[in-house]
Amino acid sequence: MRCPHCLLRQHDKDFFSDEDMEPAHAKEILSHFYHRGTRKLLLAAEGEITVYPHLLEVSAFSKEIGFEEIGGFTNGILLGRHIDCLATFFDFIYVSVDGYDNETYARHRGVDGVFDAVTANIGSLVEAKRRSGRRQCIAVVCVVSQRNYRSMENMIRLAEGLGVDRIEFFNFHAVSPNYEGCHPLRDDDRAVVRYLHHLIYSRRYAVEIILPALIGNKTAYYCPNLFGFVMVGTDGSFSPCNYFPTHEKYGNFFRDPDAFRKKEISRFKKAFSRAADPSDLEFICRECVALSPENFIYFPSEDRWRRRFVTGPFEYGYEDVARNNAFHAP
Ligand code: SF4
Repeated sequence: MRCPHCLLRQHDKDFFSDEDMEPAHAKEILSHFYHRGTRKLLLAAEGEITVYPHLLEVSAFSKEIGFEEIGGFTNGILLGRHIDCLATFFDFIYVSVDGYDNETYARHRGVDGVFDAVTANIGSLVEAKRRSGRRQCIAVVCVVSQRNYRSMENMIRLAEGLGVDRIEFFNFHAVSPNYEGCHPLRDDDRAVVRYLHHLIYSRRYAVEIILPALIGNKTAYYCPNLFGFVMVGTDGSFSPCNYFPTHEKYGNFFRDPDAFRKKEISRFKKAFSRAADPSDLEFICRECVALSPENFIYFPSEDRWRRRFVTGPFEYGYEDVARNNAFHAP
């Protein structure tokens, strides 16, 4: 894959360690955090869970000890090998598609000829969910930037055709001010806002839709990722959030399981909390969609759009879009 939005490749082209966490280490980490109250787990495996050889063992263990919600992201290419595992143990599965046919998929993701396999695998997963009767969210995910946001309408059609529960659009996030190519969508871009406005008011949909959080002026600096997640890498090293590769400088679980509360990460959180202006934040946070996110969400069972916005730490408010006309299209 050559996805332009791959944060880890943007940070460092040699980022991928090609090492897998030993199941014994994974279980030690999971047990530790479970016994300290953590109940939700996102398995990442350097961005692709289906290449982790111990996926079944680690997922089964997580449910066995009591994790209530397990989720993961996949590009869907090898999904077919893990249908039983994902259908049995996962509560949400996000499949990155980023294109509505082979041509648009290949243009964005840099790999030709796999689109049909990915969509067939999603179809098998949807069918497995139907057979099991489990509550589970299967979502198609699409990263949008200035380059491809006009494909959103066709992406929604694809999601409806596949019978998934949700399509979620993520805004492109550059982690370097010098990154070239894609550019994030901004709330002062009239063409972007008009396009989203058109999506909101054009028709009713058969699938839940989460529109991208736009970059723009924020009145509050709050990040659910920074304060709500603990990120642990393959070698046990921590990271402040999923937009930074894990690194020894943030501490290592196997030397000090509480290191994520100390030193570098603690300093990072304090600096973030004291920010009074976007320029006080690191570039990577300034251009981040997780910064006080606002999303427009469509709920198909009610045929209704709502705006979701941050009201405080881990708290969100919802506003009815039609009633309050909260979406200010220029
Ligand atoms: S705002 Fe900063 S800390 Fe939060 S997710 Fe984005 S990059 Fe990470």
